[in-house]
Parts: sequence; C-alpha cells; structure tokens
Amino acid sequence: MDSVGVAAAAPDAGPGPAWQSKCPWGAPSTTSISCSLADVMSEQLAKELQLEEENAAFPEVVAAAEGPFITGENIDTSSDLMLAQMLQMEFDREYDAQLRREEKKINGDSKVSISFENYRKVHPYDSDSSEDEVDWQDTRHDPYRADKPTPTPRRGFIGKGKDITTKHDEVVCGRKNTARMENFAPEFQVGDGIGMDLKLSNQVFNALKQHAYSEERRSARLHEKKEHSTAEKAVDPKTRLLLYKMVNSGMLETITGCISTGKESVVFHAYGGKSATEDKVIPPECAIKVFKTTLNEFKNRDKYIKDDYRFKDRFSKLNPRKIIRMWAEKEMHNLTRMQNAGIPCPQVVILKKHVLVMSFIGQDQVPAPKLKDVTLSNEDMKKAYYQILQMMQQLYRECNLVHADLSEYNMLWHDGKVWLIDVSQSVEPTHPHGLEFLFRDCRNVSQFFQKGGVAEALNERELFNAVSGLNITADNEVDFQAEIEALEKVNEDHVQNHGKKLSTFSSDGDPPIYDE
Ligand code: ADP
Ligand code: MN
Repeated sequence: MDSVGVAAAAPDAGPGPAWQSKCPWGAPSTTSISCSLADVMSEQLAKELQLEEENAAFPEVVAAAEGPFITGENIDTSSDLMLAQMLQMEFDREYDAQLRREEKKINGDSKVSISFENYRKVHPYDSDSSEDEVDWQDTRHDPYRADKPTPTPRRGFIGKGKDITTKHDEVVCGRKNTARMENFAPEFQVGDGIGMDLKLSNQVFNALKQHAYSEERRSARLHEKKEHSTAEKAVDPKTRLLLYKMVNSGMLETITGCISTGKESVVFHAYGGKSATEDKVIPPECAIKVFKTTLNEFKNRDKYIKDDYRFKDRFSKLNPRKIIRMWAEKEMHNLTRMQNAGIPCPQVVILKKHVLVMSFIGQDQVPAPKLKDVTLSNEDMKKAYYQILQMMQQLYRECNLVHADLSEYNMLWHDGKVWLIDVSQSVEPTHPHGLEFLFRDCRNVSQFFQKGGVAEALNERELFNAVSGLNITADNEVDFQAEIEALEKVNEDHVQNHGKKLSTFSSDGDPPIYDE
C-alpha cells in the first residue's frame, strides 16, 4: 500500500477505514431515558462547560444569531443552536483525539509515517490555536521541507541511444507528479512524499490536484465567514451561554444589541429583568461589557495590572484567561469605589467571569454621547469642566484611584452632567506609573477644555497639582515629567526597602509624607 499517497487522497474514498467507523463515544446505550433529552443536555453541558472552562481550547468565534441577540421569545432556538454547536465541537475534538491515537498506533517507530491530518474535524484551516503556541519557528529554514527531486529537463528526454528516457516514461512521470504536489496550496498536507522516490500515476495525481483545489476554496470560504462573523460583533459560545443564562434566569429581560465593539471589549444593551433576591434592584436598562477573550489585545495592558499591588500576587499565578477576568473584576471594584464616592458612573449589577453587567447610561437603547461627540453650549462646557475637576479630585482622594484612560472618549454626557466610564485599567496613585498616568489624564482633559474654549481651564501641570495635592513647581513639561518620575522612584525604593507601599503621596502641597 502506498500509504503516503493514500493519506493525502480524498477523504471520502471507498468504505471508511477503521478510525472512521469507530464512534469515539462508544456504542449507543439502550437504557431508558428518565427525563427529557433537552433537560439532560442543557444541565450537563452547562456543568461540563463550567468545569472545563480553563483547559478547553475553543475556537474564537462563532457567528452570532441574526437580529435581536437573545430575547425571551427566541430562547429555545438560540439555546438549541448554541448547544448543538457546542456538542458538535465537543464531538469534533473527541474525534480528532481518537484520530491522533490511531495515527500514533499505525506509525509506531516507522520512518515512513502516514498522516491523518486531512481527516481532522477541527480542520487545520479553521483552527487558530497554533497562533498562541508556535512562536519558535524560524521561517528561514523549514526543517520539515525535503529537498526537491531533480526535475526532468525541458526537452522531454534524457540519456542517449538505448538509455534514452522520454517524459512519458512512467517512472520519470511519476516522480514529476510527486514534485508537482509542491505547487498545491501551502496549507495542503501532502505528507513527506516529496523528498522520497515516490511515483504518482497521472490518475492519482489528478485526483489529488482536484482535491487540493477544492480544499483551497473551502479554506477561503471559511476564512471569509470567520471575518464576517467578527465584524458582526460575535461572541464566543461560552459567552453566549453566560448571556443566555442571564436572560433565562430573568435577571435580564432582553439583550437588544451591540452598542460598541472595541479592541478589548464588546458592549451590549439589555433591558433589565427581575432580581432573584429582594434587596437588589436591576436597573431598567443595562449595559453588558464583555471583555474579549482574544488575548492578543490585552498583552500591552500588562503594565497596568502587573504593577498594581492589589493584583500582584495573583498575576504571576494566572493563565491569560484568568487575567482577562481580572480586568472585569478590576472594573467592577473601581466602579464600586466611585459609586461610593458619589461620582456619576455606571452602577454595577453583576459580574460573571469576563462579563460585567452595569446600569446603562442613556435612554431607550440610545447610549449617552461621548464628550467628544456632543456639542455643548459654553455654559455647559464650563460646567462640565468644573465637574470633571471635582471628579478627578474625588477619584484621587476618596477612591484612591487614577483613571489612567481619561479623555473625552470615556466621558459620557447624560442628564446634564458628565459620567465617567471605562475604569478597568484604573490604578492607585502609588502604582509605579500611577502619577504618569495621572499626568496623561490631566493633559487630555486640559487640552480638550482649552480647545473647547473654557478660559478657566487649568493647564495640565496646574491640573495635576490641583488633583494630586502635590506641589511640583517645574514650569515646563520635561522637568515636570522628570519630577513625577523621581517621586515614583522614591516610592518604588521604599517598597523595595520596606516591603510595602507608602500609604499615599502628600495631599496638602508639602513634600510627600511617608507612612513608615
Ligand atoms: P472600551 O474599553 O472598549 O473603550 P468602554 O467601557 O469605554 O470600553 O465602552 C465602550 C463604549 O460602550 C463606550 O464608549 C460607550 O459608548 C459604551 N458604554 C460602555 N458602558 C456603557 C454604559 N454603562 N452605558 C452606556 N454606554 C456604555
Ligand atoms: Mn472606552
């Protein structure tokens, strides 16, 4: 048997080999069913999913259902679809694992190995798990690529006299066909046949070529679909399940649609339902912030959380998925602090994993405009400025927080006042870069209001001192920045030497007082 050729050939050829006929879940059981199938499925699945959560490698995206996301009316269909997708995925994973075992068994220690790659359910084209794992690859040299066999010359024959071989020679032709497999799409697995003295008949070659082309088209279709679904603000199946549970429990009435898709989060609007507990009131309209589980976007946020002592011990032990949950957790804690200080901001309703539900700032599904998008009268502009100045001071002094991403993008204008949002990255002032973040916030605010014609607006350095209570006297940006960094360094040294943070920087204009 020409194992290499067969491995790469059409997967639907002939009666299935052993690994295809075997059901990875074993023979169907004949025991009687005591309750409805749907009950068992949803219960078990939900449990299983929760347990498996961390280790299961899920494909990133699954297309979202059309129209209203999840509503009271279409619960059944949406959940069935989702459950079916999950079951299928689970099945495919099992199937692939089985395939790998078979592959290993057949190959053993043999030098010539066959590959079942093209039979895999989680097809190489759909799977992007490799993204995280393969970063060692040196693209200049591919150790798996064999040298090309010597090509036959153009004139169509080699040799002289009776040793002449023409291009129609079966052996030459077979070798040539094998070499031509290299021209198939790079993702197409042709096995290790290229480097071997393998002869493919024209018939086999043509069948292979046909298969390679259709796979290429299939791959293109899949990619198209995937990109499309990303644009449709899809969330992964687990998140969908979480959201579904919130609707199912009655906590949310309807999830109407998406308000915003950012690099790090997707925000949905929902109508609130009834709380399970009496003491808690669900706001009539909610915003659901789903922190994206695509890890790439979060890498550059490390510095916010790594150096935040509140999260320090936990950071090192966590896997990336948990770190993303921590962003959600952080946003929740910070919002709560702000709420307690009376700063206008969304009120936390509930946090479930990487999904944060809060009150909706806006009305009738229309979110309040960002400060950058709203045109305010001079009077309102001035009012907004003084309100922000006060909020920044409260944030710093009462909440012990620096927003760290404060700008006209994260302030909403609603009910005649400014509301602060997006505080997952906020840090305490004694964070190793806390004062730098504060200075950046001050610069954004200053510039926005100075450009907006508020004559009273302090410049960024004055604003920094007004908020922090520090008294940095440098009259230019560079020196000011240097003093900020020096202060941060004093604090860091203190941490190094004494193993703890300073309780706070001075708040009365004197040189910082350190709490020993
Ligand atoms: P990101 O990190 O993606 O910027 P944000 O928290 O800023 O996340 O939310 C993105 C957008 O979603 C905001 O600019 C705002 O328009 C909208 N949004 C977020 N939270 C709320 C809310 N509680 N009420 C109304 N709109 C919100
Ligand atoms: Mn934002």
